[in-house]
Formats: sequence, structure tokens, C-alpha cells
Amino acid sequence: EGVVRFENVSFAYDKDRQILHGVDFEIPAGGTLAVVGPSGAGKSTLARLLFRFYDTTGGRITIDGQDIAKVSQASLRAAIGIVPQDTVLFNDTIGYNIAYGREGSTQDQVEDAARGAAIHGFIASLPDQYSAKVGERGLKLSGGEKQRVAIARTLLKNPPILILDEATSALDSRTEAEIQTTLKAIAARRSTIVIAHRLSTIVDADEIVVLEAGRVCERGTHATLLAKN
Ligand code: ADP
Ligand code: ADP
Repeated sequence: EGVVRFENVSFAYDKDRQILHGVDFEIPAGGTLAVVGPSGAGKSTLARLLFRFYDTTGGRITIDGQDIAKVSQASLRAAIGIVPQDTVLFNDTIGYNIAYGREGSTQDQVEDAARGAAIHGFIASLPDQYSAKVGERGLKLSGGEKQRVAIARTLLKNPPILILDEATSALDSRTEAEIQTTLKAIAARRSTIVIAHRLSTIVDADEIVVLEAGRVCERGTHATLLAKN
């Protein structure tokens, strides 16, 4: 479950300016596909189409063979989790931020998710643990800690399909390497799309497509693309 296919997908925000041109790729169930390309290539647009913020203007996107245009918004949202580049947190507790959208979760489930995101030790060191409010009482989270909250939120949701939309690109390189390790663990067994600027941050993808000006201009593995470039 969780086979995502982009079939000859074209898209334009405005009809006089085509953004994506016949994009084709498949993420096998449980596999990882990386989309690499410069700023403005259309990478985030692919994620927005998968979420159906917009509909494709040509071609189609399927999940397990079903056209997403025929899937309800609710089941699409349930199936897909996203770790964005900059996580904006509510001025509320870390527990609330992790459980946002999953209000029926138990404290144990939230703590398990925090453990999976390697943030539990940090939270446990706070005086009020999960009840300390982000942005209050001196609780300032670093960029890396915020991304770990976002990862914990995704772990709690446990979606079969995962989008990592430049999830580490705003971090310094040491924090980036640490978070990448956690992301690899959460991407295992899920169909995952990794969006990134640089090939160097992608190692484990089953396939990498290079997007330039809305076209797939190259595809291969990390090793074959490195050899070519
Ligand atoms: P990337 O994620 O690769 O940086 P994007 O998908 O964000 O690229 O953007 C691809 C192109 O679409 C860019 O030229 C951008 O200016 C344009 N674009 C993005 N969002 C919109 C929008 N809401 N309306 C019109 N054009 C947009
Ligand atoms: P939900 O809260 O719907 O259960 P998630 O926790 O996975 O699901 O969060 C998905 C949220 O991410 C959506 O509500 C949507 O507003 C936001 N989102 C989806 N795609 C993008 C994107 N490409 N860039 C920024 N935010 C996005």
C-alpha cells in the first residue's frame, strides 16, 4: 500500500505559464524517491499537487492505482504526512504541538512519538515536561528541535505516505546530519518523497529524479548520478 505515481503530470498556476511538463515517476510502496533541483524548478508544486491544493492541468496522480482526483480530501490527508522546511509551532505545549490534529492521542502515544523523534530526553529535562509552553518561560526551541517536534507529529499520525519537503535545508550541517538520521528511520517502510536542493543530502533514495524548469532532466541512483556529474 502506498504506491504513488505521477503520470505525465503537467501543471500551470496561470494558464500562460506552464510550471510542470509531463512529469513521470513512481514511488513503490515503502520505497523512497528523491526530487532534486534548483529553486523554482517546481519541487514544492509536486507536493501541493499530491495534497490536491491544486489539480493537475494534464496527466494524473494515482495512489495504489486510484486517481487522487476521485479520493476524498479526508482520506488523502490521512494517507499523507509532511515534514516541511520550516515548522511553525503553536504557542502552546510541546505535547499539544505533537498531538495537533490527533486530539484523541494518549500521553503514552505522544511520548512514544517524542522518543521516535529523539526529542523525549530533551522534553523530559524541562521542568514542566510536556506542559511547558513553546515561546514562554524561556522555552526557546532551536531549528533542529522544532523539526523534531514536526517529526514526532508525523510519527503520531503514522501515514503510509511521507513528504520530506526540504525538511533539513534550513539547518546547520551538523544538525542536518543528526536530523537526517532520524528522518531515515521514519522513512523506512513508508512510501517517501524527499525534496531537496542538493544531491549531496540524498543518499538512500531508491531513485532520484532531477527536476529543472518543471521537467525531469535526469534520473538514476545517487551513485549513477554522481558518476555522470
Ligand atoms: P521549488 O519548490 O522547486 O523551489 P516551486 O514549486 O515552489 O519550486 O515553484 C515552481 C515555480 O512556480 C516557480 O517559478 C514559482 O515562482 C511558481 N509558483 C509557485 N507558487 C506559485 C503560485 N502560488 N502562483 C504562481 N506561481 C507560483
Ligand atoms: P493533517 O494535519 O491534515 O492530519 P499533516 O499533519 O500531515 O496532516 O499536515 C498536513 C498539513 O501540511 C496540511 O494541513 C497542509 O496545510 C500542510 N501542507 C501540505 N502540503 C504543504 C506544502 N507543500 N507546503 C506547506 N504546507 C503544506
